[in-house]
Amino acid sequence: MKKLSSIYKISSKDIDEFLEASYRIDPKKQSLKVALAYAVAGVVWIITSDTLLDFWTERDNVYESMQTYKGWIFVLLTTIVIYISIRNSLMLFDKAIGEIYHNYEELNKSHKTLIKLENEIERQLQELHVLAFYDSLTKLPNKILFKKQVTNLIESIDIRHSNRSFAFICLTIDNLKDINDILGHHYGDLFIKNIGYILKHMSDRDIRACRLKEDEFGIIINSITNNDYILSKINKILSKLNRAWQVDSQEFFMTYSLGVSIYPKDANNFNDLLKNSNMALSHSKSVEKDEITFYSKKIEENNIAKINLINDIIHAIESRQFTLYYQPIVRLDNNKLIGVEVLIRWIHPKKGFISPMDFIPIAESIGLISDIESFVFYEAITQKSIWQSYGYPPIKMSINLSSERLGKLNIIEELSSLVEKFHINKEEIQLEVTETSVIGNLDTAFDLLTRLKKLGFKIALDDFGSGYSSLTYVSSLPIDVVKIDKEFIKSSMVESKDKIIVKTIIELMHNLGMVVVAEGIETEEQKEFLKENACDMGQGYLYSKPVPANDIEKNFFTT
Ligand code: C2E
Ligand code: CA
Ligand code: CA
Repeated sequence: MKKLSSIYKISSKDIDEFLEASYRIDPKKQSLKVALAYAVAGVVWIITSDTLLDFWTERDNVYESMQTYKGWIFVLLTTIVIYISIRNSLMLFDKAIGEIYHNYEELNKSHKTLIKLENEIERQLQELHVLAFYDSLTKLPNKILFKKQVTNLIESIDIRHSNRSFAFICLTIDNLKDINDILGHHYGDLFIKNIGYILKHMSDRDIRACRLKEDEFGIIINSITNNDYILSKINKILSKLNRAWQVDSQEFFMTYSLGVSIYPKDANNFNDLLKNSNMALSHSKSVEKDEITFYSKKIEENNIAKINLINDIIHAIESRQFTLYYQPIVRLDNNKLIGVEVLIRWIHPKKGFISPMDFIPIAESIGLISDIESFVFYEAITQKSIWQSYGYPPIKMSINLSSERLGKLNIIEELSSLVEKFHINKEEIQLEVTETSVIGNLDTAFDLLTRLKKLGFKIALDDFGSGYSSLTYVSSLPIDVVKIDKEFIKSSMVESKDKIIVKTIIELMHNLGMVVVAEGIETEEQKEFLKENACDMGQGYLYSKPVPANDIEKNFFTT
């Protein structure tokens, strides 16, 4: 059906004007208006028509028929008036209904959009919540949520004034780096995901887990009784964390280090619990790895000592407290000096002598080893040029390279410019690397050593027999010299099996075209045994301890 408004074309402007002019429809007024119009028209009609009739007509029959016409005209006129009046009102009414209907539809549409928007906001809020509180890889709670959970747990314990306690554990994967290096980060991520999955499914009322950072997980063991109870729970977790992991045909035996602190004995808030279990974890990692350490005051004291040592190392570099000692390397058949190993010494103004075994690993861990080694390179090559200028016979300078240095190629530039500056023959500079540090830098070490060897530098494999002692590596690396570890030399005098191993190593290395140096020779017996088995060179207290440069000059160059 066609709408009235579409027939009579009343624009919304009319309605606006109507409303603005405060012409609101007043039903009583409107009806009264129609009724009054009707009444006025009627009265005017009756009076004027009667007067006119009187004036025009004299005959009764004419009068009567005129009366009838007058009646019809009246009905016609009032019908027109009523029609116009009702039409106008209804048109306005219809337009208003149309507007209301249209607005209702608009409102409905807006309502639906609003509901959609609300659902979208809800979904995004949920996503944000997951992003903010859960780790994306493992879907375990992240550190923020874990902090909330631990804080809630502490509050619930405090409220009841009970003597309940819980263990806060930091767990880290010892050999994640191996997986990342050998198989790639994709497998590293897969492995972390796997651990997350296991920890998630082990979580219950008394065990909760989170991922603290890349290879570190936080675990809460609630309602503990004593350390044995904690250990039994930890061992249960460890037994589930697939220790042997197989990828294609390769098997990785995964190990984990853990640090434990206990609420409220060791700390009474999240941050301190985390700090203390992290401290215990560092201890586990520095000792052996694959270890569980409980936080103790002693560990904290050691940690403080370590922090002090770090500050001292920084200061020692600036105030040049390091100096170099040199330990002779001699030919075993005629005791002739062939070279010296450069060994750093730190004479601390208050603490006295500090062993490189104590500060080199720390300097490595905090990224200061490059500065120390740059000092060693510079001093050792300067010393070599001094001996050269004195006219002493040419000997090899054997310099230790840290694992950190094997990971960067810039050492090539540094060494090359130093030997050039001091006019040193590259063949007289030997660089000592360990198997462990080569394996730790698989990507660059092989390339770096090949380049150094191509330039003329000599490469020695240090501490052979103390690490993996993998023949695959030895035969594939660009090595000139193998140094047998001092512990091996020592034990070969006690264990006949070790004697056979040392003998075999010498033979094998000779067959691979390498020169063999025995380290840590302390007795004549050791020296004789090594000589008998054709070991090329030796180094150890039997010949000399590491000494300052002028002692080498006095005792070795003049004889
Ligand atoms: P290393 O490279 O295996 O050095 C040989 C260590 O054995 C030296 O210890 C030396 O003093 C010791 N030694 C030599 N002969 C004997 C012996 O007959 N008996 C015994 N018991 N020990 C002997 P040192 O000087 O304490 O150095 C320890 C380690 O510190 C070195 O082991 C090396 O890994 C590291 N280091 C020393 N100087 C440097 C350096 O300039 N740079 C780097 N990266 N590491 C260094
Ligand atoms: Ca060495
Ligand atoms: Ca060594």
